[in-house]
Amino acid sequence: MKISFEFVVSFAVFFWLGFCTGWCQEDDTRWWRGNLHTHSLWSDGNDFPEMIAKWYLDHGYHFLALTDHNVLSQGQRWMDLSTIEERGGGVAMEKYRSAFGQNWVETREKPNSVKGERQVRLKPLNEFREKLEAPGKFLLIEGEEISDRSQEVPVHLNATNLSAMISPMGAATVPEAINNNLRAAEEQARQNGEPILVHLNHPNFGWAVTAEELAGVTNERFFEVYNGHPSVNHLGDETRPGVEKMWDIVNTIRLDQFKAKPMFGLATDDSHNYHGRPGSHTGRGWVMVRTEKLDPRSLIEAMNQGDFYSSSGIELQSIHFDQQRNTLSLKIKSQAGATYSTQFIGTKSNYARRSVVQLDSKSNPIRATRVYSKDVGAVLATSTSLEPSYQLIGDELFVRAVVTSSRDHADPSFPGQKEQAWSQPFGWKTIVR
Ligand SMILES: [Zn+2]
Ligand SMILES: [Zn+2]
Repeated sequence: MKISFEFVVSFAVFFWLGFCTGWCQEDDTRWWRGNLHTHSLWSDGNDFPEMIAKWYLDHGYHFLALTDHNVLSQGQRWMDLSTIEERGGGVAMEKYRSAFGQNWVETREKPNSVKGERQVRLKPLNEFREKLEAPGKFLLIEGEEISDRSQEVPVHLNATNLSAMISPMGAATVPEAINNNLRAAEEQARQNGEPILVHLNHPNFGWAVTAEELAGVTNERFFEVYNGHPSVNHLGDETRPGVEKMWDIVNTIRLDQFKAKPMFGLATDDSHNYHGRPGSHTGRGWVMVRTEKLDPRSLIEAMNQGDFYSSSGIELQSIHFDQQRNTLSLKIKSQAGATYSTQFIGTKSNYARRSVVQLDSKSNPIRATRVYSKDVGAVLATSTSLEPSYQLIGDELFVRAVVTSSRDHADPSFPGQKEQAWSQPFGWKTIVR
């Protein structure tokens, strides 16, 4: 059989259009898995930072930011052995010695101690980094949970890729506190010529931040759509929306009223407990960032572009937004025995704008996110395909995808939790000024 040149060309074009559109990697990028919220003995966690880093390395992560409260893992720090054993349930030292060897562990008698109490040295990041890091395989990033307060509520922001600690800046109001800390990080980034990623943590922890407040601080581009700590009120309550709904409210206000860029959502562990006690654990929430190289600058630049997704158990092969076809497409890596449901969530530009303030039992307004119509963060389409896609009609302010597995989360942080993955919002670029 004679195969004509035209046949070969049309077959190649057909193959390209049919199989490659949206899926083929046009560059050398890949997905890197990381957690940007972790606590150690440097603040209120109950394990040594190198033990925690080793856990992430051993469990398939590529990067980890150590983010203790108002402290960096730098300088000299000795801690009472009794405190470590009490926090770690009596097993922290034994596990530490067996993982890193007796010679690695530094102890001393506590200065001026009458009873001869022992202390253990907490190693700074620059001393243990080289034991765990490997180029293109695993990266440790210095960070801090800037733990501020305003209006009697906690205002916590994680700053990733710091060289010096940022003291909480404080302010009269929650939005000002967010803004002040953000500016301090921006100033350090400018001075060092190194990017710093600042994300707002757990907005519903202590019912600290409302959607309207967060919408107004338009310079803050990142927040935690999922935080693995069980006390962060992920699902909200009868008067306050869950964190995912808050995200949609924030992005609706930003795009509709301010013509400002939307916020991107991270999943994190906020891990404190490493010895099996109830609380916040490793492995509940992470981000997958798409870059060529594994270094802080590349990761942060990719996240600034929205080139990442968040997960509590689901892996995606690809997320692609086709500008020409105005279509958001995902490819889900299926796991044995699981089925998947993808919701495409968004707000249309003609949404019902009326919102109502929340009142207490005496009809006084309370400090909480207002109640919005169902149009805000509405489910625009649902798919059970492993390759779900949504073509925008053109009247959407934004569209995002959330994939939910039929599988229960192995270590849930809230009742009934299923494994999920969250895309960033798409389809908004023509709206932003
Ligand atoms: Zn916090
Ligand atoms: Zn934290």
